[in-house]
Formats: sequence, C-alpha cells, structure tokens
Amino acid sequence: MTRFSVMTLFPEMIDSAAGVSILSRASDRGLISIESVNIRDYTANKHGRVDDYTYGGGAGMLMQAQPIYDCYRAIVGEGAAPRVIYVTPQGETFTQQMAVDLAKEDHLIFLCGHYEGVDERVLQTIVTDQISIGDYVLTGGELPALVMIDAIARNIPGVLNNDTSTDYESFSDGLLEYPQYSRPEEWMGMKVPEILISGDHAKVDAWRHQESLKRTKVRRPDLYEAYIKLHPDEDTH
Ligand code: SAM
Repeated sequence: MTRFSVMTLFPEMIDSAAGVSILSRASDRGLISIESVNIRDYTANKHGRVDDYTYGGGAGMLMQAQPIYDCYRAIVGEGAAPRVIYVTPQGETFTQQMAVDLAKEDHLIFLCGHYEGVDERVLQTIVTDQISIGDYVLTGGELPALVMIDAIARNIPGVLNNDTSTDYESFSDGLLEYPQYSRPEEWMGMKVPEILISGDHAKVDAWRHQESLKRTKVRRPDLYEAYIKLHPDEDTH
C-alpha cells in the first residue's frame, strides 16, 4: 500500500480526482490511499488565515510557515519522516523515470502552494524534493500534485489491470510509443497496416520498434539522439 498525503488549501480538488477511474479503483483495492489534508485546519490564526504579505514588498500573498508545519507534523506524527515534495515551477522537471522511482516509496507527502508561493523557511524545514511539472506557472499546486500521483500510481504493481502495460509505453525504453489501431480493419478508407494482422509476432515487434524510432526522431529529436548514443546501430539516418 502506497500512501499519498496531500497538504492543500483545496482538498475538494484532490478528492474529486482521487474518487474516479483507476485511482479510485486502486484505493478500493487497497493498493494506494490518497488523503487530502486541509492546511487551513492547522492555522493558529483565529480568523483562519493561512497567508500574509511578503516582507520587502511586492504584489500578492504568501502561504505562511506555521499552518504548513503543523499540518505536516499531524500527518507524520511519531512515525518515520517520509519524502515531502513541494510542487513548484522552480523544481526539477518531473519525468517518467522519477515516477518509476517514487512508486517504490511507502509514503509521499505533497505540498501544494498557492498565491505567490510558500514561506522559504518551512520549505527548508520539511521539504526533501522540489519538483515542477513543466515550464509554465499554474495558480496552485493541486493539479501538479495530481499529475504526479497519477503518473506514480500507475507504476505501482497491480494498479493497472495488466502488469506489463507500462513496459512498452512512451519513455519506458527512451522512445515514444508506436502508432496503434483497433477495429475495424478499415475506417474512412484508411486501412490498418497489413503487418499487424499478419499474426507474425516477430514481424509485428520489429515494425513497432521501427515506427517508434521514426516517430521519436521526428517528434522528439532530443530523445532520439540520446537513444542512438546508446544504440548506434539502430540509427535510421
Ligand atoms: N511565485 C511563484 C514562482 O514564481 O515560482 C509561483 C507561484 S504559483 C502562482 C502558486 C503555486 O502553484 C506554487 O507555489 C506551486 O505549488 C504551484 N505551481 C505553479 N506552477 C507549477 C508548476 N509548473 N509545477 C509545479 N507546481 C506549480
């Protein structure tokens, strides 16, 4: 069982995404648990405030240290300290490999920022990892935390119905996935490539690999170059 605890000001965002589809099924089957913890419940401010102006001036409000720290302490209790991920555009960019690695942890805590972000001192005190989901700025950390939880959870054994289904996906071997087709054999005049209905598995595998190479070269030359460095004999020129 992998536990995901999400420190947030908007728990309903986390709960609604965790309550549908594969994440919900994985929770029902006891493979994961996703708990949203409302930072506001831990503020010492009698008006329920969790943010204030930034020292030195500047527009916007900053999330204060105290409510976040007390929220974190309530999640961890007397137990071992798990990794705490602050989702931030200033972090290292999230990758499939990071999702695979994080899927090995028993417990992960996510901290979702809002407004201008979070007081630096609480980040220094509790955060182990700062991770971005891409070079753009969102209004809050809930969507990034959900993106990461979704990507991590599908690498936990049993979460996807077929345990091999992450093996041939995009990024798993450094290449993008090949094109795929389902029924019917012909749609709007377009036919499924002959080889895929040949029943010859070796030929199908070889075709798929070639298509992956071609697609990666066109769409993600950066990935293609890295792959070819490791497999120079496969260069399609
Ligand atoms: N002032 C901050 C800065 O320039 O780095 C941006 C704050 S942003 C408006 C509010 C919160 O959204 C952040 O604290 C972070 O938790 C989250 N966030 C925004 N963009 C993100 C991204 N690309 N990846 C991860 N988290 C992001």
